Amino acid sequence: MAETPITPPENTWKCSNCGNTVVQAAPPQTCPVCRQKCEFLNVTCYQPDCGFTGMDNRLKPAK
Ligand SMILES: [Zn+2]
Repeated sequence: MAETPITPPENTWKCSNCGNTVVQAAPPQTCPVCRQKCEFLNVTCYQPDCGFTGMDNRLKPAK
């Protein structure tokens, strides 16, 4: 049996402080934008109705 390395899926994390989004497997310790230890919300979209943009449209900041 060949061992296949499992690549963790990329998640989209949104900073609860400044709204910055980071796409990586795990949420960062500190936000690269506001440089705070923010709470990062997982806004990764797994549903086809948001267009596979990688982010749930319902969680996007309104502009
Ligand atoms: Zn931030």
